[in-house]
Amino acid sequence: MHVLILGGTAEARQLAAELDRRPRLRVTTSLAGRVARPRLPAGEVRIGGFGGVAGLVEWLHEHRPDAVVDATHPFAATISTNAAAAAQATGVPLIALRRPGWEAVPGDRWHAATDLADAAARLPALGRRIFLTTGRLGLAAFTDLDELHFLVRSVEAPDPPLPRHCEILLDRGPYTVEGERDLLRTQAIEVLVTKDSGGPATAAKLTAARELGLPVVVVRRPPAPAGVPLAQDVSEVLHRLSPGAADTCP
Ligand code: NAP
Repeated sequence: MHVLILGGTAEARQLAAELDRRPRLRVTTSLAGRVARPRLPAGEVRIGGFGGVAGLVEWLHEHRPDAVVDATHPFAATISTNAAAAAQATGVPLIALRRPGWEAVPGDRWHAATDLADAAARLPALGRRIFLTTGRLGLAAFTDLDELHFLVRSVEAPDPPLPRHCEILLDRGPYTVEGERDLLRTQAIEVLVTKDSGGPATAAKLTAARELGLPVVVVRRPPAPAGVPLAQDVSEVLHRLSPGAADTCP
């Protein structure tokens, strides 16, 4: 059996490790190639875009995987939509692995935003020193906010345009509550901005913000493509991939 994993997440690496240790199972992980030194998963790896739906369809015809697992980040909407279309066109079974989103708990001061532009519009009313953890793309949404100071944390340096008052912190999770609390305090952060990425690796900032009573602007996820079976974790994917669990076609 050959499984193609669309990767770029910790769950994708966990799944690749699980599949790679199984006999008679070949696993290929596809990475977008955005990060210069990615954490490489077990098994075979290919890097770079496919060239849209047509390119992915071609890849599936050429390499003939028995199943595709879309284990990309919940905000990587284009590749997920492309995967759904390519699976539909080729008949290759597709499962989407989506870690659950974060849930507010008592003490949280969350403000839901529909996208980065909506998050930016909410900031002036909430504070002046902003901790922006939405990744290195899309910072143009914040460039009109000249009165605010941004601490931007990302794995790789963001490309311009950047907000006028902007400090870049290059770092990669997982993070601890203690570390996040120290960072929020020493940087005198007044507002945290995050995507609803879910998962434990980057959740510590939410706990730290709650402890310090800070407002958090949470950008909601784009909708998952319709008709693709969802799994919440690696074990659910493994179960669905096992012989007899054939309910994976979109
Ligand atoms: P995206 O907007 O959904 O995808 C843009 C294009 O990048 C796709 O059309 C595809 O190019 C290529 N691509 C994306 N993921 C790919 C993969 N796993 N293998 C091969 N090509 C891929 O994606 P994005 O938001 O830029 O994210 C890029 C990657 O970073 C994803 O793999 C995702 O898992 C990871 N990531 C994203 C975020 C986030 O917040 N968006 C956070 C952490 C990690 P073609 O059309 O040429 O095939």
